[in-house]
Amino acid sequence: QSFASFELDPRLLRAIEKNGFETPTLVQSKAIPLALKGHDLLVRARTGSGKTASYLIPIIEQILRKKESKSLTTGGILGLILVPTRELAQQVMKVLEKLTAFCSKNIRFTNLASNVSTAVQKPLLLDLPDLVIATPSRAVAHITAGNMSLNELLYLVIDEADLVFSFGYKDDIVTLTKSLPQGCQSFLMSATLNDNTDSLKGLVCRNPVTLKL
Ligand code: AMP
Repeated sequence: QSFASFELDPRLLRAIEKNGFETPTLVQSKAIPLALKGHDLLVRARTGSGKTASYLIPIIEQILRKKESKSLTTGGILGLILVPTRELAQQVMKVLEKLTAFCSKNIRFTNLASNVSTAVQKPLLLDLPDLVIATPSRAVAHITAGNMSLNELLYLVIDEADLVFSFGYKDDIVTLTKSLPQGCQSFLMSATLNDNTDSLKGLVCRNPVTLKL
């Protein structure tokens, strides 16, 4: 299988090639076609398996398609990527920067998983990013402060989902799920599947496809 077989936008395909990704990893070859069909996904995959690109590629592709067909009305955030740590947020940022190298005007993103205060971060959101990376607590803080709304959200990712509860983010996730619009596509990425990932699944997924890789 090749990345070209996913019929990706040429700008995205070019970025994948430039990045030196020749063939999809196992998790990518399973997850990308299902995600492009709109399925919610619960994916068991380890760090190093290519899991980050397995959700970023279909999210970028779907946003590019929607922008191309002008089917987006407002400037709300389209995708929220929740991570338990700042380190992971930075890794996700790096992959996102690489994958959007040729469509940086069309896909804009910001990282809120940083040390600085929400007040200092607020201007980043006034810039109307398409994608936001945040810890669950930061996302809740910005929503509560009125800096960010999930009204237009199309994609929700919880990366390292198995760690999210043990890092104490359960209440934040519950709060966030209350502002999720109907039909938002979710991606739960986890190294292990356990009671925590089960309860997250109940909170954020509609009948997901489970991939155990
Ligand atoms: P991850 O599992 O998302 O942390 O990715 C682990 C590493 O694999 C990262 O350094 C990626 O750049 C790399 N990677 C992801 N997908 C591919 C691919 N299809 N081919 C080669 N390397 C990849």
